[in-house]
Amino acid sequence: MKNLKYSTQTISKKDIANVSKVLKSEFLTQGPKTIEFENKIKLLVKSKYALATNSGSSALLLACKALSLKSGDLFWTVPNSFVATANCGILCGLKIDFVDIDPDTWNISIDNLEKKLKKAKKRKKLPKLIIVVHLGGLPANPLRLKNLSKKYKFKIVEDASHSFGGKYYYNRVGCSKWSDITVFSFHPVKIITTGEGGCCTTNQKKYYEKLKILANNGITKETKNFKFKNLGPWYYEQHSIGYNFRMNDIQSTLGISQLKNLYSFLKKRNKIAKIYRNYLKNLPIKFQKIEKNIYSSYHLFIIKLDVKHKYLHRKFFNYLRSKNIFVNLHYLPIHLQPFYRKFGFKKNQFPVAEEYGKTAISIPIYPNLKRKEQFKIINLIKSFFNKYVK
Ligand SMILES: *Cc1c(COP(=O)(O)O)cnc(C)c1O
Repeated sequence: MKNLKYSTQTISKKDIANVSKVLKSEFLTQGPKTIEFENKIKLLVKSKYALATNSGSSALLLACKALSLKSGDLFWTVPNSFVATANCGILCGLKIDFVDIDPDTWNISIDNLEKKLKKAKKRKKLPKLIIVVHLGGLPANPLRLKNLSKKYKFKIVEDASHSFGGKYYYNRVGCSKWSDITVFSFHPVKIITTGEGGCCTTNQKKYYEKLKILANNGITKETKNFKFKNLGPWYYEQHSIGYNFRMNDIQSTLGISQLKNLYSFLKKRNKIAKIYRNYLKNLPIKFQKIEKNIYSSYHLFIIKLDVKHKYLHRKFFNYLRSKNIFVNLHYLPIHLQPFYRKFGFKKNQFPVAEEYGKTAISIPIYPNLKRKEQFKIINLIKSFFNKYVK
């Protein structure tokens, strides 16, 4: 039996044909296909602006930079994410702290956040930015977060790397109604792929213009923005320091082609999740709690052992891997990484996220996972619990 990964890309014959075609076109770097891809994303998520980038990590860094925070300003995020969520703030010279997660949704705990904000206000150490993560594709509830941001005056970036196509309160994630900038990743394990790639969406022109300049080595070619006289058709101006974080037309072509299958991808992922939830429901495990008005794109299907079976985590993991089920952990808490411990973070500081890291496992979910394969996984999980949990 082949290796069943926790997630993987779905590439169609059409995708291959489309990418082959673009290789014969004029643009291998950024050109008309990237503009088309960005326009399609804007239409889908109903944001005013979209900027495609060469990875989700670079989109996160651009988002942080575009907010123009001051070096030494504080930002908060959750411990159970990919390190890129935290790295982007550090790379902007910001100081980091974490907010523990909700024990049921495994997203940021708004209760914890509110308490932490109250304390921080007294000590005059309020964060200027909060980066929320929509874990596994499940959007964190945006409404209370937005209210808190008004009260305590912080900016919001959504790390929606997992949640392309997800919905909350009748809007697609990325609408950026309740945040400043939303970030997606198009890494092959995510909902759609461009090989490597990412995107920022926002409704604020000032952010979009910053993002665009920062992704283009600080350069603008827009005549209306020139500070000096336009000297000719060769003329451009550099207005800030920046990077080359552009998406290219090969990636964008694949992205446009993948978008055609987005609804089918989302449906299939949701169907697989429903089957897992149904067939595994009597085991001593927990699933992610889905609140009302929230639709997950199911990048991940995470199961969490009951705490009293925590000691079985490694065994469970190894058991499934030994059966060619390539499960993984999303995520080891960021604050316990050697790099982040240097800032003084310690064990037991964020107990819910730490316990989560000791009990969670991502099992395979992707559009091409066959029914037969899924039932093999289900039966293996059941037999594990039959054998080890009396
Ligand atoms: C995938 C991912 C990113 C960005 O990853 P890239 O590989 O750079 O596209 C950022 N945050 C989270 C939570 C992710 O899962």
